[in-house]
Amino acid sequence: MTALREILLRRIAATGPISIAEYMTECLLHPEHGYYTTRDPLGAEGDFTTAPEISQMFGELMGLALAQAWLDQGAPAPFVLAEPGPGRGTLMADMLRATARVPGFHDGLRLHLVEASPALRAAQAEKLPHATWHDRLDQIPGDLPLFMVANEFFDALPIRQFVRDGAGWRERVVGREGDALVFGLTAPVPLAELEHRLDDTEEGDMVETSPALPALVGEIGTRIAANGGAALIVDYGGRGATGDSFQAVRGHEKVDPLDMPGQADLTAHVDFAALARAAAPAACAGPVPQGVFLERLGITARAQALAARLDGAALEAHVAAHRRLTHPAEMGDLFKVAALHPCNMPPPPGTET
Ligand code: SAH
Repeated sequence: MTALREILLRRIAATGPISIAEYMTECLLHPEHGYYTTRDPLGAEGDFTTAPEISQMFGELMGLALAQAWLDQGAPAPFVLAEPGPGRGTLMADMLRATARVPGFHDGLRLHLVEASPALRAAQAEKLPHATWHDRLDQIPGDLPLFMVANEFFDALPIRQFVRDGAGWRERVVGREGDALVFGLTAPVPLAELEHRLDDTEEGDMVETSPALPALVGEIGTRIAANGGAALIVDYGGRGATGDSFQAVRGHEKVDPLDMPGQADLTAHVDFAALARAAAPAACAGPVPQGVFLERLGITARAQALAARLDGAALEAHVAAHRRLTHPAEMGDLFKVAALHPCNMPPPPGTET
């Protein structure tokens, strides 16, 4: 039995079942036993691989898209370049390399990272020695233009799940049966925050909410509207779909989310409709499929330029990486790109709908 399972079982025995959001928060961020607090989960030897770890092209194109948005807004300096959940720092390192020749961009930027994991902060510091780290997004200095990227950050935010029952909702919770953690459902209650879902759901449908998302996205949108800037947000998900997207991944395999708490990555689909609703007073462009976004930014030309210098296994891996990032059957369709931008400024290139 893991230490965290023991802690959760005791807590549930004392105060009753917990929401999926509370379960996710404990499993991912428990100060001693949390998944992110205790390890670097990325890469082939880890539990999952992300777009920037697949190919340098992802970060290069994200960097150039953000630099273009900065140029479109008159190249304001100084400005904040921010990333929540930077993983190993690979995305930001690729962005910085690709933008090195954009006049004034590097001189003007102040790099701010938001990271909960001490293990990942250490990995980021090796690649990004000039960054400043924060525990929360609202700790980033608020008086400068904010140019931001986030890849697979919002999918780690805790979700709550509700099952439609008449005009009310039963919340899916984690309880205990003996020494086992088990899913359960509360009694149905009407919920004002889900009133708008009564129109597009049927009896028994499950909907998910992300309690932290509106305030986080609202904070980013408020800053971008007030000071200028843009945020590129990439994640898997769709617009206000129904169904259970709560998943656990360990060693590149899906596992039962209640098995081995704190030892598997827990994520859920990002609801881009909720994200767009929370963006005001900034505008929200997209979401566009990741494959479409990358093709619009010229990934094929970049892939060919890189391919010219490769052969053998390296060339094969490069071709496979291009396909993995863009093909609809791989990450190209499931992953989406949305952008927050000031209402009177164009969206970053590639995100136009
Ligand atoms: N963006 C990276 C890593 C994605 S994994 C990439 O694309 O490779 C999710 C990242 O978000 C990790 O760095 C994790 O430690 C961080 N994270 C998750 N929840 C967080 C929270 N509540 N606050 C700050 N960072 C968080």
